[in-house]
Amino acid sequence: PDLSPEATDLLRRRSQVLSSSYRLFYSEPVDVVCGQGSHLFDAAGNDYLDVYNNVPGIGHSHPRVTEYVSAQLATLNTHTRYLTEAVVSYSEDLLATFPTALDRITYACSGSEAIDLAVRLARFATGHRGVIVTANAYHGTTELSAGLSPSLGENNPLGPDVVTVEAPDGFRDDPATASAEFAARIRTAAEDLEERGIGLAAVLVDSVLSSDGVQPEPAGFLAEAATVAHEFGGLWIADEVQPGFGRTGTMWGFERHTGTRGDTQPGPELPGLEAPIPDIAVLGKPMGNGMPISAVVTRAELGEEFGRRVRYFNTFGGNPVSIAAARAVLEVVREEDLPGHASTTGAALAQGLSDLAQDFFLLGQVRQAGLFLGVEVVDPEAPRAADPARASAVVNGLRDRRVLISASGPHANVLKIRPPLVFGAADTDRFLTSLADTLASLRA
Ligand code: PMP
Repeated sequence: PDLSPEATDLLRRRSQVLSSSYRLFYSEPVDVVCGQGSHLFDAAGNDYLDVYNNVPGIGHSHPRVTEYVSAQLATLNTHTRYLTEAVVSYSEDLLATFPTALDRITYACSGSEAIDLAVRLARFATGHRGVIVTANAYHGTTELSAGLSPSLGENNPLGPDVVTVEAPDGFRDDPATASAEFAARIRTAAEDLEERGIGLAAVLVDSVLSSDGVQPEPAGFLAEAATVAHEFGGLWIADEVQPGFGRTGTMWGFERHTGTRGDTQPGPELPGLEAPIPDIAVLGKPMGNGMPISAVVTRAELGEEFGRRVRYFNTFGGNPVSIAAARAVLEVVREEDLPGHASTTGAALAQGLSDLAQDFFLLGQVRQAGLFLGVEVVDPEAPRAADPARASAVVNGLRDRRVLISASGPHANVLKIRPPLVFGAADTDRFLTSLADTLASLRA
């Protein structure tokens, strides 16, 4: 076992001070002391392959983040009520990666805060209250965003005026009809909200449906659902907290649904664009590579009245030190074309996983968008049946081989493979070899 006597002691002390909400990963917890790129290290110098963490998108301990943040911290850190060049120039650069209609940004500190603001904006702008989310969605931890998060389970009641629809499910659905069926479920829910006099404020969906089991296909279903939302006077809020900043092979996850440019560089939108684009996009997690920063991006006119009549001031939101981290992230994402790298590396991983699924029948469908992969773990005897126990055995077996992933989805049986975007070819080989070894040991 890797756990040192010091770590064992830490585990004991931890349980005496931290609240019961805190959960550790793995049967044998991992005690890490430093990180580099897509690797984590424990005190003994053991190297763990990180195939899970999406916050350090440009890699753990990236020197440019350290440099920019340290320099800014040593110079000035205030709030957004003074003129600060760095905040404005970063905002210009970030907005240039969006379709041109999305031209205003508000900063917050966490994804939850930004989701909260996005929904408040949508309710204010539409005059409606209803929000549609997917059946196993997670959107955050504040009262409002937890109320939009059915994945938190039955002890966490949904908020008033929040309704759920089944997400598309690549494992279950016919790809030819999945998109229309999802749009039809949105329509039924919107009609219901209208009949109850609540109305539709927004359809809020994580653009890669992470907690619904990673559901990127069929590309376009979110645009079709948004068309329905707009018919009911509601908005499309794209939760980009997980897919954003290149993860799914394009700068923003919604791009695989809208056909807008998948580019980190500013430029014209694709000609002939007809699909709707999100009315509001919510950014977080990898935005500051670990520094707390999140944002709501929308059209100027949509937020105008809210800004004037309600106002929003977030003390730490958009502070120059967090912006410095975000600046470093945006530069590296562009310079290293991390969306392109995510596409190539993700495709290689998907191919390797599909090859393994030929030999190991407990691997079911492999779903992939860039470096976000979901792999069904099924009962080898009944390949349509989710097998959360075997999924957990795979996750822990990999951990024993110092390879870190996790499992999620409505049945906790989808392997969640979501490494830092700098994951390389040697990392891919090591992951696939360790997985093959784990699967062989489970079969033995
Ligand atoms: N939306 C999604 C899709 C998320 O995955 C998360 C965090 N897991 C959030 C919102 C909330 O972000 P935070 O934890 O930064 O508040």
